[in-house]
Amino acid sequence: MKSFIEQSNFLKGNSLEKIASEYGTPLYIYSEDIIRSRMKDVANVITKYPYKANYSCKANSNLTILKIAHEEGVNCDAMSEGEMRLLLKAGFAPEEIFFVPNNVDNKELQFAIDNNIMTSLDSIDQLRRYGELNPGGKCAIRINPGVGAGHHEKVVTAGKNTKFAIAEEDIDEAIKVAKEHNLTICGINQHVGSLYMKPDPFLAAIDQFLRIAMKFENLEFIDFGGGYGIPYHKLDDEAPFDMEELTREWTKRLDKFVEEYGYAPLFKSEPGRYCVAEGGIILGRVNAVKYNNGNKYAGTDVGMNVLARPTLYDSWHDIEVFSNDNAVVSDEKTPVTVTGNICESGDKLCKDRPMPEIKTEDLIVVLDAGAYGYSMCYSYNTRLKPAEIMIMSDGSIKKIRNRETFEEIFASMDCE
Ligand SMILES: *Cc1c(COP(=O)(O)O)cnc(C)c1O
Repeated sequence: MKSFIEQSNFLKGNSLEKIASEYGTPLYIYSEDIIRSRMKDVANVITKYPYKANYSCKANSNLTILKIAHEEGVNCDAMSEGEMRLLLKAGFAPEEIFFVPNNVDNKELQFAIDNNIMTSLDSIDQLRRYGELNPGGKCAIRINPGVGAGHHEKVVTAGKNTKFAIAEEDIDEAIKVAKEHNLTICGINQHVGSLYMKPDPFLAAIDQFLRIAMKFENLEFIDFGGGYGIPYHKLDDEAPFDMEELTREWTKRLDKFVEEYGYAPLFKSEPGRYCVAEGGIILGRVNAVKYNNGNKYAGTDVGMNVLARPTLYDSWHDIEVFSNDNAVVSDEKTPVTVTGNICESGDKLCKDRPMPEIKTEDLIVVLDAGAYGYSMCYSYNTRLKPAEIMIMSDGSIKKIRNRETFEEIFASMDCE
């Protein structure tokens, strides 16, 4: 049995040990091939009607990845002024960016207005603010279709218990507030949550959302949000998200809507995770192995500051072990808790997971770390944010982000 890294030819012949000695660990490693192929998938979910996928760049906002998205004909969603600035820098035209913030101040709204970036407002308060700043302008509103979905309560973003979006019963008020400021609501969007493995919850939300869309006249676009899952349990043969079923079922619903509405506005979606998760891994080093009260711990340099998801959501990431560049795969496994180097009990990549033999100085590879990995990194314990490299389609290695330096941290407090 081969490791996933070998099976997928992720490294295109490059040696992990060589990469570790040249770039250090912990290190984010991306595959240009995989990211391009996922961007192509999302760009083609709907082909029968005018359609555009917006990559939700909070999943991974490295400039090189944004440029790949742009080359693959995908537009982007931004959550903040910082992301809008990055997208403009990556070469996206203002009309290729959709700003979908929540709870922002006038300065951020004004940045979008000054740069002609379409904005979606997610409360009546924010809509009023926007109307005062941009009377006579155009905007979108985010609607809660009343149905949520996701792998953890922290990532369900619609339904009854969420801070996001405008509830259906408040839509008339939103339309009234828009009129008062002579604002045209030209688009509506939703986002039900993150990481569902079957299209069903998304399709249920689409049904509600399209019913609600009938209340709006002359829509230019309808944006259905993101959330498509990826198989985090791929070593246990978890099946991937069924894009073909999604296309089939979604198109059926659009057929019905277009007939009733009279024409097809531009349909959009906002996938983040699906585009980049499988195209990224983390390379880390085992610095200590020990038994505490009979429990085996492998202590690595991949702390919760490097990958927050396991601590934040109890997320599962498959982990592979490499010894002198050889994948350690065996039928005999013992439970291991893989931890990082942060002074917190919650600093765990996994708990009591059956793993092959793991020794000090081995390398670990954390799979499916391309989404909400680096973009959620932080510097707790004054640890440096990692570097990022990409294995290019031709097998060459491109460094796409420097490791943070102590000088940068010191300089940020040099305020006198
Ligand atoms: C995060 C987010 C997305 C992307 O979600 P994924 O689960 O990564 O696909 C899309 N739309 C909005 C509004 C979001 O906040």
